[in-house]
Amino acid sequence: MDESEGQEEPLDTPADGRDADGREDAQAVIEQMHALEAEVRRCQRCRLARTRTHAVPGEGDYRAVVMFVGEGPGYEEDRQGRPFVGRSGQFLTETLARLGIRREEVYITNVVKCRPPENRDPQPDELEACADYLERQVTLINPRIIVTLGRFSMRRWFPNGSITKIHGQVRNIGRGRVAMAMFHPAAALRNPRWREAFEKDMQKLPPLIERARKANAAARRGEALPAGVPHPGDPDFEPAGQAGQAAETPTENDESASATSA
Ligand code: SF4
Repeated sequence: MDESEGQEEPLDTPADGRDADGREDAQAVIEQMHALEAEVRRCQRCRLARTRTHAVPGEGDYRAVVMFVGEGPGYEEDRQGRPFVGRSGQFLTETLARLGIRREEVYITNVVKCRPPENRDPQPDELEACADYLERQVTLINPRIIVTLGRFSMRRWFPNGSITKIHGQVRNIGRGRVAMAMFHPAAALRNPRWREAFEKDMQKLPPLIERARKANAAARRGEALPAGVPHPGDPDFEPAGQAGQAAETPTENDESASATSA
């Protein structure tokens, strides 16, 4: 028996003094997110600034329990300055809606905030230059669940992962957070097998969200959660039967599963 079984464990609490769901300091978060978005819009840190029309910081609820992280803006996103508003964004939004999740209640962003020319893959130095913005967004929004869309965002939290092998897996990433890797919706639209995997993986979200909200509600009440309860707020969270569960999606590779390899 695990010696912690039956004991009470406090939820992980962010180092900035907010409680586990970040609600205490909501106005400060709004102001800091607005400042961050303004910083992104005028950013010149990498070469993508020279070819973009609009930088795309991200959008959604600053108090979201779920953050989606894609690869980078495409043509329509660059034109509008908003994330996931093209065909793949519409597919993402519709898939969420079928599961009862409104787009407005999540936060959506990308690992690079400016469109790579001709939708090429982001380069390592561009990813590095832009990484700080995503780190700050995660810290400020403090989501319980991070969903990576495509292999570039997957590598942030699953550095040795292969998207065709680990999609759908939910992993504890510390600080009361879990991450789930998924195919990029653009890749899902190109390949029926990946679409099936995308929709199946997405079905894991509603129960995760429910658990995350319970964790946040418990934290607001100052309650600890029982140790060993599978929960995105539990530092040892691992969904039952998760380990090794996700089968490799056959015959495809990570390169062709990119959002930008159409
Ligand atoms: S991609 Fe990121 S680092 Fe590069 S210019 Fe845009 S906001 Fe700045």
